[in-house]
Amino acid sequence: MRIDLSGLHSGKRECNLFFAILVFIVILAVWGNGVGQKRLAETVHEKNLFAMDTYFSLRAYGPNAEAGLTLCEDRVRELEKLLSVTAEGSDVWRIDQEQAASVAEDTFRLIGEALRIGEQTDGALDITLYPVLRAWGFTTGDYRIPEKQELAELLTAVDYRAVALEGGSHSVTVPEGVQIDLGAVAKGYTGDVLIDILRQQGVTSAILDLGGNVQTLGTKPDGTPWRVAVRNPFDRSQVAGVLEVNDMCVITSGGYERYFTGEDGQIYWHILDPVNGMPARNGLVSVTVVGEQGVRCDALSTALFVMGKDRAVAFWKQQGDFDMILITEDGELILTEGLRDCFESGADWAEQVVYID
Ligand code: ADP
Ligand code: MG
Repeated sequence: MRIDLSGLHSGKRECNLFFAILVFIVILAVWGNGVGQKRLAETVHEKNLFAMDTYFSLRAYGPNAEAGLTLCEDRVRELEKLLSVTAEGSDVWRIDQEQAASVAEDTFRLIGEALRIGEQTDGALDITLYPVLRAWGFTTGDYRIPEKQELAELLTAVDYRAVALEGGSHSVTVPEGVQIDLGAVAKGYTGDVLIDILRQQGVTSAILDLGGNVQTLGTKPDGTPWRVAVRNPFDRSQVAGVLEVNDMCVITSGGYERYFTGEDGQIYWHILDPVNGMPARNGLVSVTVVGEQGVRCDALSTALFVMGKDRAVAFWKQQGDFDMILITEDGELILTEGLRDCFESGADWAEQVVYID
């Protein structure tokens, strides 16, 4: 019997061809993926700076990212020179030394915004606290606990309503003894300016971390949301949760950001209550504000920290243009309803989460 092997041969040929095509496809896929990753890697640009007394980490993607970040760095240096309370000759320094100064448009706008939010928060945000902050040593690191009497005297010069703005000449005037400091709002304002620069440069994907203030532009390059960690204030190496956001600011004020331990063993932190000049201790240890504008989120994170839980919740209900995460000293994690679908709590926190609406 003769066995016809021709079919077998042709089957083998087909099989070889199929195998060759498969190998080709696999090679193409691996190569393509490599190219894709390389392209992505090539278009990521980062800039790390020490500015405004903290670390800035700026990351942007796309062909215009590098040029955009260079402009950002120049702008940060410019704003730092205007807004620093300690740099001789800065706009803020001149207001504090000379009681009247004609200032740059940035300074003027930022002070105006800070005064408006001072008004809205009934003085919980007060940019004229500077003499009190200095008495505690928060500006120099020479920490001390001022006497009650000393605080009472210094508080007589604390009143944001005493700051007068004159639009035409961009001049700022304060009464003798009144001094301002923009520490609670300067980074948020800077973040807004940088996001604008990047947007104008055609960048559509960026994440800026200005010393813990996170501001995002667009989505991640792959279209998924940015993931921003909210620290556990009781153990900063851990997270209380992670937020997924696009085109949003996530700005936190925490007692743990800058503090010292007094000889009495107590912790004293750098967010002060303008009512008594003491570190604000109204039940909160961390406040995160999520919203579209950095300067507002920065101002509010400080102000809500001062207000405490009940006033913060009432304020949120009244304003309605932001979301927030409050962490209480009892370890409660209070979130506003708008964050329900974009927050994932960290290990051990799920049971403490409460949503308010
Ligand atoms: P951080 O600078 O740590 O991110 P904040 O945005 O909350 O934190 O700003 C805290 C700074 O704001 C302080 O270092 C001080 O300069 C200033 N400050 C503290 N308490 C107040 C207050 N009640 N109103 C306005 N400014 C404040
Ligand atoms: Mg702030």
